[in-house]
Amino acid sequence: MNEALQILIEGICTGATRLTCEKHGYVAAQTRRSGHLVPVPPPPRGCPNCLKAYFYTDWAMTPANKRQERLDELSEVIHHVVEYEQKGSFGKDFELYEPGDPRFQVNFHKDAADDDTGEDKKPIVLTDSELN
Ligand SMILES: [Zn+2]
Repeated sequence: MNEALQILIEGICTGATRLTCEKHGYVAAQTRRSGHLVPVPPPPRGCPNCLKAYFYTDWAMTPANKRQERLDELSEVIHHVVEYEQKGSFGKDFELYEPGDPRFQVNFHKDAADDDTGEDKKPIVLTDSELN
């Protein structure tokens, strides 16, 4: 792992660095009354910046030997979300569900990964809008 990333991870884990969404004033880690610093998920407003701050913090605060397992869990969740979206049923079992609510919109592109093995079958080309 490169040194800059290691310094960033240490900063996140000690609370010296906190990832935020400026638009919503969201801070991805908070110190509990017990003194423990923990990642706190954002309210379900569907903001990609809030979610990035949360998931990067969550990943950084996960012990190094558990990070791949955590990424695998999140990858599985994403696969299920896409499956539900393709069936037209994503979000319908949530109490807050309303058709057209942007919090329940799922945008994805077809990747080249094999659904069973996760291996790439061909290179993925992201568009400019997907890179931002
Ligand atoms: Zn936000």
